[in-house]
Amino acid sequence: MAESFAVERRVATEARIRRFLEREKPQTPCLVIDLETVRQHHADIASALPRVDIFYAVKSNPAPEVVALLAAAGSSFDVASPAEIDLCLEQGAAPSVISYSNPIKKAADIAYAYSKGVRLFVSDSEQDVRAVAAHAPGSSVLLRILVHSKGSTYPFGRKFGCDPEMATDLLRLAHELGLVPLGVAFHAGSQQLDVNAWDGGIADAALIAAKLRAEGIEISTVNLGGGLPAVYQASTPTLPEFALGIEASLSRHFGAARPRVMIEPGRAISAEAGLIRSSVVLVSRRSYSDERRWVYLDIGRYQGLAETEGEAIAYSLRTSRDGSPVGPVVIAGPTCDADDVIYQHTRYDLPLDLEAGDFVDILCAGAYTSSYSSVCFNGFPPLATVCI
Ligand SMILES: *Cc1c(COP(=O)(O)O)cnc(C)c1O
Repeated sequence: MAESFAVERRVATEARIRRFLEREKPQTPCLVIDLETVRQHHADIASALPRVDIFYAVKSNPAPEVVALLAAAGSSFDVASPAEIDLCLEQGAAPSVISYSNPIKKAADIAYAYSKGVRLFVSDSEQDVRAVAAHAPGSSVLLRILVHSKGSTYPFGRKFGCDPEMATDLLRLAHELGLVPLGVAFHAGSQQLDVNAWDGGIADAALIAAKLRAEGIEISTVNLGGGLPAVYQASTPTLPEFALGIEASLSRHFGAARPRVMIEPGRAISAEAGLIRSSVVLVSRRSYSDERRWVYLDIGRYQGLAETEGEAIAYSLRTSRDGSPVGPVVIAGPTCDADDVIYQHTRYDLPLDLEAGDFVDILCAGAYTSSYSSVCFNGFPPLATVCI
């Protein structure tokens, strides 16, 4: 997709959301999701990667309307818990298109998934493979390998995945336990900006497949995880560029023996569809000589801006005073928690006449916001979502 077309898209999304906000004037803070944008992003990924099966990562935005739309569009789903399974089933997804992709699960949750018809699980440990064999007999299992996440704005560290040698042994074990050893999964880190970031995982998957094939065990699938980025401020490589990188790695490492390929985009489907409208609660200064004002919003780290931790994600902001002269600010949330400061190192300039009651709109905020908001920390309710 050409860059100018992508910009036009973003302008159109924002315009539809602004029309809704002007008409309905919802209480703030409020996340507005434009379903048409969700639909477009899913369709864009499908057309950039026509030979790849899309599993939407529900955790990025679990609004029922979003899940229903994607189910109707033919998407599959990556879930992490029984509640996400129920959500997908209630919104029209068949159990056969659900992947229980969380390697950390209780035996009871595996049994629940199995009772609902889910037959695809991701593991990264012997205990979990044995639990899947016991509570979801005959199911398919993908082994998640640990890959580096260089190029990722929001890496996973070492929490998930085992090394390829262990994954090979566990696929063999799965086979022995009567499971279908389906293949290899990995996640190259979220908000991944390097179009070649999938290469290492694909190379490892091909080596594992070759090794097992020599023993008479055929694995059929590679799950590329998430990581496709959203455009927060700086532009990222385009989807066709990512598709080129991924397809080149697949043919380099698998040659003619191309496996079934799954991808689990979350952010790339939901982020740009959302805008959060917040209000200014207070503007103040720490001292008479301090040039930087503190702007406190009615949303912070605990009502949905979790990804501003470490200032990893720097959202674009618009205010109802845009056009006035601006000056530097620290931006903070409303709670009495010391960590509830949104941006103090990243440079933000906001209008000098900004005052209590003015709106601050947070753009590209559809992913990992409402799903991260706390139930009621400090008495602040969770972030409300409206789908239009
Ligand atoms: C969170 C997650 C995703 C989605 O990641 P994005 O970077 O939002 O695309 C995909 N797969 C798994 C297993 C995940 O945990």
